[in-house]
Amino acid sequence: MKNTVNVSPEIIHIPEKPSFLPHLQPTVNMLAAVIEPKDANTLVRKLNHIAPLENLQHVKRVQKKCIDGGKPQLSLLLSVAAETDVVVLELVKSYQLSTFITRVCKYAATSKEEWEEQCKLWPTSYHPPTYNISGITGFSEEDSQSIFGFMRHTIDLATSSVVGQVVNAAVIVDPSTKQVIASACDQVISSASLANEVSKERSCCNYLENLNQQRLLLDRSIGEFKHIINNVACVHPWRWALQSSGCWHPLRHAAIVAIEYSAARDRQLFPDYKALCHLESDIQTNGHSSESLRPYLCTGCDIYLAWEPCAMCAMALVHQRVRRIFFSTANSNAGALGSVHRLQGERSLNHHYGVFRVLLPEVVKLVDSKTAGSG
Ligand SMILES: [Zn+2]
Repeated sequence: MKNTVNVSPEIIHIPEKPSFLPHLQPTVNMLAAVIEPKDANTLVRKLNHIAPLENLQHVKRVQKKCIDGGKPQLSLLLSVAAETDVVVLELVKSYQLSTFITRVCKYAATSKEEWEEQCKLWPTSYHPPTYNISGITGFSEEDSQSIFGFMRHTIDLATSSVVGQVVNAAVIVDPSTKQVIASACDQVISSASLANEVSKERSCCNYLENLNQQRLLLDRSIGEFKHIINNVACVHPWRWALQSSGCWHPLRHAAIVAIEYSAARDRQLFPDYKALCHLESDIQTNGHSSESLRPYLCTGCDIYLAWEPCAMCAMALVHQRVRRIFFSTANSNAGALGSVHRLQGERSLNHHYGVFRVLLPEVVKLVDSKTAGSG
């Protein structure tokens, strides 16, 4: 039987965008129109204002084609077809444009081959990635064993913090020293602060009642697992708002708390931050690196998470300049690293981390979940 086969642990890279064959890239329907060249500048300016192509910044607004006799013909993207609003339609009317529907590629090309396929539909721009993920993929046997070890430690935290339940756990590691910098689990709102924050006594009662109910959920068989994970904050980021079942802090998800602990550790190790800043600027003007003095946020660090993080946690990890994220279980409800969103592919961000899913046989047995979107 499949379930009894021993699976070996595995590290799977979750790419910045879903992989498609170049000629099978997903597309978006757009409303477009052929325009007079003399109107092009005005129309582009107006449309950038009333219907900016926010999620399609790689797509060129104007397509230039040579029709018979070498005469150029300009076509203009007006808006995403499904989002065409009254203002765009008024523009269409006032310039007497005859519109048509065309397709453009949904994601920016990541290779020249993809870009060439994209331009067959509608012109796009292609910028080879400015960051380099080579060197963070391809793990040596020693690195792999260390990654599996840290992930096991993270899973232990996630399953042992509250009896009978699974929460999210986060472990920040400095890979150069293989040292744990900080670790944390999802934090529960204490009954007192819950009363303050939600200001309803009833919620307190519900919270206590709920906690008791959850403590009864000791059975960790697969059939029961769904109930037990109800309190993984990243999987249910809005559950706290439902008074009947909310008891986990809306903001204190494991990753956020671990970041806080790591900042506290830095403050403790480098108490005289201001003096150090001056020292650093002196050193920098003398042409020496200051990296050995003080870590900048979580630069160069890895974080291990039992669950794929939600958008809030994934974004906090961008701000922290984390180098790599390893998570164990995909979060099909609210995961921001491949399952629902894909923050690592968001080109407008000023930092990108490598994302990996770590499959451990013991966890695979426990949760029968889909992969986080390598396909
Ligand atoms: Zn979260």
